[in-house]
Amino acid sequence: MITTQPSESCPFQKTPVGQSYDVIVLGAGPAGTTCAAILADAGKSVLVLERELMPRFHVGESLLPKTYPTLKRLGVLEKMKQSAFPKKYSVQFVTEMGKLTQPFYFDEYIPHESSQTWQVERADFDLMLAENARQKGAVVRTGAHVVDVLFEGDRAVGVKVKLKNGSTGDDDAQEDNMQEIACKVLVDATGQSAFLANRLGMKQADPLLQKGTIWSYFQGAIRDEGKDEGATIIMQTAGKKSWFWYIPLSDDIVSVGCTGSMKYMFPGDGSTPEQIFERELAKCPEMVRRIENAKRIIEYKVTKDFTYRAKQTAGPGWVLIGDAFGFIDPVYSSGILLAFASGEFAADAIIEGFGKNDFSAKQLGNWNERFVAGLAHFKRLIYGFYAPDFSFGAFFKKYPECRNQMTDILMGDVFKPELETLFEKMGPVVPPSDL
Ligand SMILES: Cc1cc2nc3c(=O)[nH]c(=O)nc-3n(C[C@H](O)[C@H](O)[C@H](O)COP(=O)(O)OP(=O)(O)OC[C@H]3O[C@@H](n4cnc5c(N)ncnc54)[C@H](O)[C@@H]3O)c2cc1C
Repeated sequence: MITTQPSESCPFQKTPVGQSYDVIVLGAGPAGTTCAAILADAGKSVLVLERELMPRFHVGESLLPKTYPTLKRLGVLEKMKQSAFPKKYSVQFVTEMGKLTQPFYFDEYIPHESSQTWQVERADFDLMLAENARQKGAVVRTGAHVVDVLFEGDRAVGVKVKLKNGSTGDDDAQEDNMQEIACKVLVDATGQSAFLANRLGMKQADPLLQKGTIWSYFQGAIRDEGKDEGATIIMQTAGKKSWFWYIPLSDDIVSVGCTGSMKYMFPGDGSTPEQIFERELAKCPEMVRRIENAKRIIEYKVTKDFTYRAKQTAGPGWVLIGDAFGFIDPVYSSGILLAFASGEFAADAIIEGFGKNDFSAKQLGNWNERFVAGLAHFKRLIYGFYAPDFSFGAFFKKYPECRNQMTDILMGDVFKPELETLFEKMGPVVPPSDL
């Protein structure tokens, strides 16, 4: 079942909140609930404030195998194994000429159960992670819209939050309650809202990746069989001006999205999202073959201009994780992996900070360098993907040994310096990422 609307019986909707916590986490996406669960497990008092009622719809369904260690650390691996989420063993690319390339089967590189991952409906996945954080001791409150961060000097000391009291989620129908809550550390995990980065003017866009996406869900599309059934397929369109993702979900539903540069996708000629999607679909016969007899089951959705990064990961008493710190591009499904990684890194830095009574920017952001280096590995591969005259097929013919490094990145194993040699060989097609 695809959930696109918030539930009217959200489990955390009326949870009472106290006056003061060790840590307040803004946002109950994968970054926030990962960080909260680890902190609560370590005995910290944690409050998670989520604006929406859950379960709530969210784009971003395809996991990478390297999310496995985080799922294990969080204690949700068994739940994942028992879930109905389709199993993902590989990713496959289709060229602009319509040629299906050899799939990257992850177990050919890591013969371990961690090489298999999942395609997740985010409403269910995010709810499971929020419930897990609550079970570990975090207080999770939904319908809680953070409207301000409170500072003493330059140190974050709390939040001002508007709590919805009612069950409908309709502001006008119920009386709201504005409350100030204190904390020693504030974690911003507000996703692309990037609450603090916007508030502090720290958000910088990547001029090379100004993209937009239109996507929807289809039921009854053609699926591959066996091990390939749950594969993510990335299809270039003729002319390489856009590309499609194909992500199989449960209940015979497939997530299909099309991404291209903002100028190309949205030229301002009055076309509707459906017309733009159809325009690009006509340039992708492999996608046409798969979805021509399928039924679209939700309206077309649009995301624009989504590649950015904050100038810093942390300040006195505050830290940014997940998309609230930065987001690159959907092509290599890196978002949840990076949300998990930054959630873990930040939680470990915060726990250490409590041990030393040190909540400085240096302590809370001590993972910045390692994280940004990993993020840059994804980013540079993305530059290669979008480079008009670059072909990964031709590159791997010349440098077959580099296929392993490519697979490392496709699996999410990005936090290691050895990957640099791949980019040295790719040359100027992948400019260094300083964003
Ligand atoms: C088109 C597209 C396709 C993608 N595909 C993939 C994919 O296939 N695989 C993948 O791994 N990633 C994908 N991503 C990225 C992925 O969706 C994100 O990286 C991921 O959701 C980040 O998690 P997060 O916890 O940082 O933020 P989110 O999941 O966005 O969670 C942030 C939460 O904060 C809440 N919030 C916001 N403001 C406030 C406030 N003021 N007060 C309280 N709460 C607030 C929001 O309601 C939200 O629930 C895709 C992204 C896009 C745009």
